[in-house]
Amino acid sequence: MDQIFTLDVHGLRSKLAAHEVSPVEVVRALARRIEAVDPAVRGYLSIDLERAIGEAEAADVTKPLGGVPIAIKDVISVRGAPCTCGSRILAGYRAPYDATVIARLRAAGAIPFGRTNMDEFAMGSSTENSAFGPTHNPYDPARTPGGSSGGSAAVVAADEAFAALGSDTGGSIRQPAAFCGCVGFKPTYGRVSRYGLVAFASSLDQIGPFTKTVRDAALLLNAIAGVDPCDSTSLDEPVPDFTTNLDRGVKGVRLGLPREYFVSGLDPQVERAVRQAVEHYAKLGAEIVEVSLPHTEYALSTYYIIAPAEASANLARFDGVRYGYRAEQPGDLLEHYGRTREEGFGAEVKRRIILGTYALSSGYYDAYYLKAQKARTLIRDDFSRAFRRVDAIVCPTSPTPAFKLGERANDPLSMYLADVFTLAANMAGICGVSIPCGFAEAEGKLLPIGLQILGNSLEEGRVLQVANAYEQTTDWHKRRPQSVTGNA
Ligand code: GLN
Repeated sequence: MDQIFTLDVHGLRSKLAAHEVSPVEVVRALARRIEAVDPAVRGYLSIDLERAIGEAEAADVTKPLGGVPIAIKDVISVRGAPCTCGSRILAGYRAPYDATVIARLRAAGAIPFGRTNMDEFAMGSSTENSAFGPTHNPYDPARTPGGSSGGSAAVVAADEAFAALGSDTGGSIRQPAAFCGCVGFKPTYGRVSRYGLVAFASSLDQIGPFTKTVRDAALLLNAIAGVDPCDSTSLDEPVPDFTTNLDRGVKGVRLGLPREYFVSGLDPQVERAVRQAVEHYAKLGAEIVEVSLPHTEYALSTYYIIAPAEASANLARFDGVRYGYRAEQPGDLLEHYGRTREEGFGAEVKRRIILGTYALSSGYYDAYYLKAQKARTLIRDDFSRAFRRVDAIVCPTSPTPAFKLGERANDPLSMYLADVFTLAANMAGICGVSIPCGFAEAEGKLLPIGLQILGNSLEEGRVLQVANAYEQTTDWHKRRPQSVTGNA
């Protein structure tokens, strides 16, 4: 039982249900693993071990996720627990209620365990924008785990969590999953309730799982998906059992290769791995079809109008009046607001607020925000057209493998480019996953590469089926980072 932390959720569940291990033993084993490994990874921001043990004692192992600890990105509310969003401005704040996803995980028997590091308010692609220091990539501690859910990806990859929740506004689940070699699933917009998720860009945000296997992603989705009266944008659609079609294979399934995603700027090692994955699908019986998403070149600029515009409105609530950080001894109310926000927010968050406020201001609204909304419609139409011809789209998750800490920190545009292949899906509202599909070599280190599989709205089952077909016939997902496995 020493290596229990290496199990995936499915494997852990069998042992828990058979009483071969107790939930308390699992929580304790995980805590030891974290103690051994997390000083190098720094994926967790806070852990309430006593509370987790108390919840483990009460866990019902007959439930679907009974006794399974799950790490939670620090942007999702867990009643009584810190929720910093990686920001100084929320230091000391504790969430007064459970997010719907947390309530649903609890109903399925799971134990929310530990809060994971992230870019401040989920703005970033490297977790370096956290006010509490960066997380390190378990495959190479000199590199970023990606972001913004870098902590969630890193703790799953380093076997410091069986699974984790993250949020994805423009790629923040899929891109870090690709960088850390785990599975990261972004559900259809509205598939999972956002109630209790601190808002970044409300028309794009979606919560989803990080897991070690595709099956585990289905298990977590089963628990968290579904309409919620507390989130009017959640979809009132039946939630199937996402594990049902996992093993149906890809014979006759039509997979689209978007022409616009294989362009200059794509790392040759990433391109090779993705093309090999496509050949692999062909051998498994899938039909490969070239498709075009002609407005892809506008995705990045469109996203960087819409997301900051929504963020500038959403972040207006952090004013130091009711909760979180408050500037000391302000002269008057205006100074109180100004200094609290000046001192409480980091540089990237301020940049987004300024960009967004500008794009929404009178005289510029039509030129920027309104135009971006029109471009968003064109991007969405691209996908609708493509999904008339294919069942799913396969492409790289990120143009490069994990980059070095500090390498892009002072160059916002190069940082923004890390999401160039993921953010269109958020603007279209569709679902997608990143799964491990190989390794790149850089300076003697092996760095994971992610394959992105995108599906039409509400086609989570199909995406999981396609992803599982690959996973079951390859072994990339079984690899573990050497740098941390030795420490256990
Ligand atoms: N990296 C993108 C951004 O900074 C996406 C972040 C996210 O998905 N939360 O906005």
